[in-house]
Amino acid sequence: MRHEETLLNIPINGTKLNGFTFDEIGDDHLYTGIETPLTSTAFDISDEEKKEKIAKLFSQIMEVMGLDLTDDSLKGTPKRVAKMYIEEIFSGLNPENKPKIALFENKYKYNQMLVEKNIQFYSNCEHHFVPIFGKVHVAYVSSGKVIGLSKINRIVQYFANRPQVQERLTNQIALELASILETDDIAVIIDAKHLCVASRGIKDDSSATVTSYYGGIFNQQEKIVELQNYLKL
Ligand SMILES: [Zn+2]
Repeated sequence: MRHEETLLNIPINGTKLNGFTFDEIGDDHLYTGIETPLTSTAFDISDEEKKEKIAKLFSQIMEVMGLDLTDDSLKGTPKRVAKMYIEEIFSGLNPENKPKIALFENKYKYNQMLVEKNIQFYSNCEHHFVPIFGKVHVAYVSSGKVIGLSKINRIVQYFANRPQVQERLTNQIALELASILETDDIAVIIDAKHLCVASRGIKDDSSATVTSYYGGIFNQQEKIVELQNYLKL
């Protein structure tokens, strides 16, 4: 799917896309590909220019809703939102913010699975721009290279700092780790809550969504069972 038509020409309800109507994509949280859909001009302007534009546009949204931007409590909001979007919650859109990862030799010759579990993350649903948050569990078997444990958290954060769908977040983390660690033996499990489901729409506060990626040896039943046992600890 090309995205020239986004922003200025938002598909109206009922528009067909890949066999689904636009409405269905938004409410059922289907997604269209592993790459975050970006336009070819996504990085033509600087982050400073983006913040200025977003602040202006966000003040327009507030004005349309009838909010008084001369009020002391509201007047700084457009700039705050713009700064938060670009520097924090959507900073992972910019490849310049991708964490630099140093590889180390696996000198301990540890050749069993390494599991890093309960990595807390915060992201935002790309269909409603409200939070998705939860835990990521990552496992890999070294092909001879290892990375610092905190780097796994940084990779999770980088991809979470985008407008996301959980399935894509799962796959993006897995494929990045596979590329860095030069192995297919990667598993990623995400257990998350979506505020677009909990606080609006169907208003189900108790459900959670679990997604998984099993690559290489993690397709073997015994490895899946071993991993699941570690996650229960
Ligand atoms: Zn949503």
